[in-house]
Amino acid sequence: MTKYVIIGNGIAGVNAANTIRSEDTKGNIEIYTDEDYLTYARPKLPGYIAGIIKFQDLFIRDEHYYNKEKNIQLHLSNKVIDIHIDEQNIELENGQKVKFDKLLLANGSHSFVPPIKGSDKKNVMTIRSLNDSNQLISLIKNIDNVVVIGGGLLGIEIASSINRRIENVSIIEFFSRLLPRQLDIEGASLLQKVLEQKGINIFLNSSVEEILGNEKVNGVRLKSNEEIPAQCVIISTGVRPNINLAQKCNINCNRGIIVNEYMETNFPNIYACGDIAEFNGRVWGIIPVAFAQSKVAAINMVNDRKIKYEEIVPSNTLKITDIDLTSIGKIHFEKIPNNIVEKRMSDPKNKIYKKIVIENQDDKSILIGAILLGDKTNSMEIQTLIKQKLNVSNFIDEILLPNTDLKKYL
Ligand SMILES: Cc1cc2nc3c(=O)[nH]c(=O)nc-3n(C[C@H](O)[C@H](O)[C@H](O)COP(=O)(O)OP(=O)(O)OC[C@H]3O[C@@H](n4cnc5c(N)ncnc54)[C@H](O)[C@@H]3O)c2cc1C
Repeated sequence: MTKYVIIGNGIAGVNAANTIRSEDTKGNIEIYTDEDYLTYARPKLPGYIAGIIKFQDLFIRDEHYYNKEKNIQLHLSNKVIDIHIDEQNIELENGQKVKFDKLLLANGSHSFVPPIKGSDKKNVMTIRSLNDSNQLISLIKNIDNVVVIGGGLLGIEIASSINRRIENVSIIEFFSRLLPRQLDIEGASLLQKVLEQKGINIFLNSSVEEILGNEKVNGVRLKSNEEIPAQCVIISTGVRPNINLAQKCNINCNRGIIVNEYMETNFPNIYACGDIAEFNGRVWGIIPVAFAQSKVAAINMVNDRKIKYEEIVPSNTLKITDIDLTSIGKIHFEKIPNNIVEKRMSDPKNKIYKKIVIENQDDKSILIGAILLGDKTNSMEIQTLIKQKLNVSNFIDEILLPNTDLKKYL
């Protein structure tokens, strides 16, 4: 009987365990996680902070699923501190060693904290886990102003969640617009207006020189010398894979653990997937990739090299109330190449901005990117057109119309 050991109980770990069980009904599956909770949906944390999502609705799996339904042994609050590759075992913080036949590293990423003076002060935090979110919820009950450093998707979602509980929230963004990777200039400016109308202060082209205060934070000073009061500072400047464990035992790493198309590392029987993994030079840090990679890793752990991972088109959704944003594929060019055409639909009064990016090939036109801000109509259909690289030349002009049903073209 094969013993499968998985490090990490996020979406990649739990989905891998589920897939292994479908492929091998008898094998022994054990998951080790340093967190204290069953698998929960990190994307729901901003809604939980806002008070819109209840604690019990965060969880993806209950105990019954692990124990009874799938016969998976889950070990919560058990940090893995070493992997002894020659002996084929992992070592836990409590000194216990656990043998494996096949090992999956699905131990995710952590929030990156850039070297900002004062970032070690009390009430300076990052939001990655349920524990972080609980801490923030207790803190914001007793304070009046918060600064979020970083105007990416997560920074905006967190700022907007806090803004539902307290009024004075500011976002500090280094770039000249919000969401530089997901929005073009026009879209970013509309989103900025919507957020400002909600009362969120936005500082663009700005970076924090120092986090101020004695033991506790009481503000930030920008490079421009402007000071903004803050009783809590949230740093939201990206994530980094948790590669320390892998590096310690010579598993090849660059930004993440380097994997091939089978999700194999450089050691036999050791696989990696999800936020921790780097495939084709890229680390994604998003759920669809974690989900797809974990399935491939799990199938190959059971049936050696049965399937290959194929890269998926990334899509991002902003989950804040009263504005929908989906951004998918390639959406912005500094200089538009000759074979690329952009089509826009803009309705600022109704806070709508949509754009599609079309690549003209020899005998067809395919969608390679889209921004859908303020209107979700046909969002799934447009994502399918992009993912399946379908020829849109016969209906290009219909794609952004409000009343078109694109289903007929799929
Ligand atoms: C607030 C928030 C909102 C997000 N929203 C979205 C969204 O809307 N859409 C989207 O696509 N993505 C979103 N993401 C990103 C998404 O959550 C990640 O891509 C996803 O969680 C990756 O899953 P994973 O299983 O690879 O890693 P993780 O979820 O990071 O899970 C890894 C687990 O391993 C544990 N671990 C680490 N080291 C060890 C160790 N040594 N021993 C034992 N356990 C260990 C970690 O504590 C963690 O529980 C969001 C992330 C956050 C934080």
